Amino acid sequence: MDPRYADATQEGVAKLSREQLLDLGVGADFWRTRAYPEAGIPALTVSDGPNGLRYQKPGNDVRGAGPAEPATCFPGLATVAATWDAELAGQMGRAIGCEARSLGVGVVLGPGLNIKRSPLCGRNFEYFSEDPLLAGTLGASYVRGVQSTGAGSCIKHFAVNNQEYKRFSNDCVVDERTLREIYLRAFEMVVREAKPQMVMSAYVMLNGVYCSDNGHLLRDILRDEWGFDGVVVTDWGGMHDRAAAYEAGCDLAMPGGGRHLQRQAAAALDAGTLREERVRESARRLTALAISHANDAQGAPAVDVAENRAVARRVAAEGHVLLANRGVLPLAAGASVALVGQMADKPRYQGGGSSHVNARRVSSIRQLRPSWAYAAGYDARTGATTDALVAEAVRTARGADVAVVVCGLPETVESEGYDRPDMRLPEGMNRLVKAVAAANPNTVVVLQCGSPVELPWEKDVAAVLYAGLGGEAGAEATVDVLEGTVNPSGRLPETWPLTADDAPCMGWWGNPHRQSQYREGVFVGYRYYQTAGVPVAHCFGFGLSYTSFSYANLDLDPGDGRGHGATASFDVTNTGAVAGAEVAQVYVGAPEGGLPRPARVLAGFARVGLAPGQTKRVSVTLDPAAFAVWDGAWKTIGGRYQVLVGASVEDVRLTGVLAVSGKGIARPGRLSGTWYVAPHGKPDRRDFEALLGRPVPPEAHHARGTYDETDSLLEMGETSGVCRFIAGQIKAAVERGYKDKTDPQCRMSIMSSAGCALFGLVNCSGGALPAGMARALLNVANGRAPWHKG
Ligand code: BGC
Repeated sequence: MDPRYADATQEGVAKLSREQLLDLGVGADFWRTRAYPEAGIPALTVSDGPNGLRYQKPGNDVRGAGPAEPATCFPGLATVAATWDAELAGQMGRAIGCEARSLGVGVVLGPGLNIKRSPLCGRNFEYFSEDPLLAGTLGASYVRGVQSTGAGSCIKHFAVNNQEYKRFSNDCVVDERTLREIYLRAFEMVVREAKPQMVMSAYVMLNGVYCSDNGHLLRDILRDEWGFDGVVVTDWGGMHDRAAAYEAGCDLAMPGGGRHLQRQAAAALDAGTLREERVRESARRLTALAISHANDAQGAPAVDVAENRAVARRVAAEGHVLLANRGVLPLAAGASVALVGQMADKPRYQGGGSSHVNARRVSSIRQLRPSWAYAAGYDARTGATTDALVAEAVRTARGADVAVVVCGLPETVESEGYDRPDMRLPEGMNRLVKAVAAANPNTVVVLQCGSPVELPWEKDVAAVLYAGLGGEAGAEATVDVLEGTVNPSGRLPETWPLTADDAPCMGWWGNPHRQSQYREGVFVGYRYYQTAGVPVAHCFGFGLSYTSFSYANLDLDPGDGRGHGATASFDVTNTGAVAGAEVAQVYVGAPEGGLPRPARVLAGFARVGLAPGQTKRVSVTLDPAAFAVWDGAWKTIGGRYQVLVGASVEDVRLTGVLAVSGKGIARPGRLSGTWYVAPHGKPDRRDFEALLGRPVPPEAHHARGTYDETDSLLEMGETSGVCRFIAGQIKAAVERGYKDKTDPQCRMSIMSSAGCALFGLVNCSGGALPAGMARALLNVANGRAPWHKG
């Protein structure tokens, strides 16, 4: 807690009655906490994050719906991650912080630091990477940027929020080592290095305990081990048990409006199962934060809208990843271009859900290049095409030197609230690309999406440019890259597998399970593909440039010799004819034996801008975690480590060996002969139980008679007419708020209400669905009398 506010905080909290204290721990409305002016406690305003502000003025925030104020729409975090540019992530954070200050927003709800476990997670566009070091480095810089303006940053969703399916009640079964090395590592880095003011607990359960109530996660790890003394807030509606949450160190339930959580806590205080000091601690943390933001509107730095847009454009430009180029890019001066695909006109530039920004000014490629002959090719909302649209596109493409086909994932496919069923682009787009490529050998495909897609036509086209979700200035960035004004320098922050089924988690991830078994352990993303030798479409760290780079003269400095302060220094030369930036990556390969470890782990990286012919000496400090494992604590493992320097996880240019002293950890006998020793295919249940060191808990299957508060009205509606009816009413009420019912925001709102766990729906309803009514509904769904007790 900031010592400047300690006295005012103590005095303010001391003035609150028990009832007021409990009220303080539940928001006043969707975006604000409660104010007690008589005790000197102001309200704190928070707002989404993370790719721009979604600020709704009081009065517009009808349970989170309603128009947001215009704000700069920056690229999604997946695109930010593709820049591998921590400084730029910091500039973006700073710009968002300024916009927050100008609107009186105390804390920005972002960034999301969850690891991309499956390429199909609906929210991957909102997360940085499959690699914790990359996510943690960019996340820390973003948070420092936001907080340099005086606004606060709230990292989310702590932790293991790796899918959208059943996100309100999914039970994630994870062993401690995997948790620490993969899923908590980025959070740990950001908490330790950037000191975010808030942490948002995830909706899901971690090993059977909701994250909001999880003492291991929130108290033992976050507060006691990492020293976090800020505010923990639930994800919206994600407070499961108010008393357990206070005990765990969770301070604030959002949104507010109802009173049942206060009643839960009061009953626990009376019963002695909740200590009043825990409630006071939480009240003090929240009060200190609210007081620290009380005068935010005064002296707020001016928002430079043009500069913020320039930052957004720079991020988008650096985030473009050139996946293939057979000489067609950059476009030759004077080349005639056919522009195909409705996303060139109606761009997909941000993800769906709570991060959706009311962008100030969105540009499109078509509007920027009116002289390029245009054909829509498909419907941007659905990706569907027709014979006529394809024929028109083929005609247009045939008459031009180059055909640029803009495709991507429609918002209806990629959003918060639901996962993707597969990695495919809409079939209409695939058909269109094949037809255009057959008509014009110089076909360039530009992809607007926030996660990997299958490219069945890749060999038939001349270039593939992954534009990501570029924010409001994404089109300018794409044109700059196509024309060569900007030399692409983005690198993939996640593997593009050949198909989603190749991901080692598939089978125990997502629909239809209510339990997510983290069977693959630490072998996530490239850690698995590299170790198991599974071919991928495009590997982690990959991206082409319009120039080429060479590497030479590797020197390794062991630092303290125990894994701390080790550096890899080497020369990078721009061997081509144009200026460009290389993202030099350093991986570490662990010695054989002991606990199973991935073949390669990212240990550091550097972005290097180079003029043609220029050489720079680059020095990269290696992450101590690359030499360590979690075994009850971080332990450095001694031995001879391979150091691999190169342009991607597969494109290694220099190698060396670094001797590190430290203990070895013998492989536990139970892991001998299991999947983890030589990963190949998928781990089975016995492998996983060996990793966990205990049996996998049984997965609950709920049906009439066993439904509970973790089930949604939609689910219970499968067997209960009453629940079906109410779910239908909710759905209809949500749809009335949208002109277009296919609007992805509409589907996401339905999934977050009728599809939300019953306890979450009570939390979010602001009293419209009282807890007693929810109990009655549950009884009815289970075939009992509404008033049944027990
Ligand atoms: C999302 C959070 C978001 C919150 C408030 C939740 O549904 O998971 O990321 O910050 O809503 O909009």
